[in-house]
Amino acid sequence: MLPRSQGISFSKVARVACVVAIVLPFGSCLSSNLIKAAESQSHILCRDNISNVRRQELAGKLRKITGWSDLDFDPSGGLHGGHGSATGGSKTAREFLAGVMRGPAVVVLEDASKNPDVAFCRVNPARWTKDAEGKPAAYVVQIDFSDFEQVTGDERALEAFDVGWGLLHELDHVVNDSPDANSLGEAGECEDHINQMRSECNLPQRADYYFTPLPLTPDPVFITRLVRLGFEQEQTPPNKKKRYWLVWDANAVGGLDVQKQIASLR
Ligand SMILES: [Zn+2]
Repeated sequence: MLPRSQGISFSKVARVACVVAIVLPFGSCLSSNLIKAAESQSHILCRDNISNVRRQELAGKLRKITGWSDLDFDPSGGLHGGHGSATGGSKTAREFLAGVMRGPAVVVLEDASKNPDVAFCRVNPARWTKDAEGKPAAYVVQIDFSDFEQVTGDERALEAFDVGWGLLHELDHVVNDSPDANSLGEAGECEDHINQMRSECNLPQRADYYFTPLPLTPDPVFITRLVRLGFEQEQTPPNKKKRYWLVWDANAVGGLDVQKQIASLR
């Protein structure tokens, strides 16, 4: 969600992973996850390392975004729901999530809280450890739940940037192979899709993919490095946009290395 490998499309990442045969640490679990997928008939599955509390947190955010009150994880970790009518929420998000749950790829969700390499969420292609032939494409979305707890700011922006939105962002990379922004001042194709869903939820839209330093006098003795991310929403009368901000300590959340690359490119 913030930021991924800069300038490398998801398909390129997938190719690299194939060439060097990256074995993700959970690789041995993929066979059992395929069994779970068949049992639960959902292609979005939790790894065992996601606690029930975190599953409920994630399902609750997705229920709010989609308006589906029956959306939930079953005991084997599969995400189900969307069979009844929706109350509020985003139609685009419902269609999108239903497509992933019943789609051709298997998406395994992993709790990556406190992982310094994960800023909020990220997705990686996975490979089956045995009998790969004929098996569906598999991806792992790593979710750093603790990063989302670091974020403070305007309430409206907080509603538009939680673990549910983070998961949808990564799923969009999987389904649409959509890239993130390459430069400051743009949201990027992936976030454009997510912003459409935010708009249908009457939430502010993410104005920028990259966070920027909080405009305070920098002091190298500070341990924290506060950054901010802007959201905006059209107001009446038209053409007036209200700005909302999120703030967090980038030293605690991560993602600073890619920000440095961007700065050096400009
Ligand atoms: Zn992304």
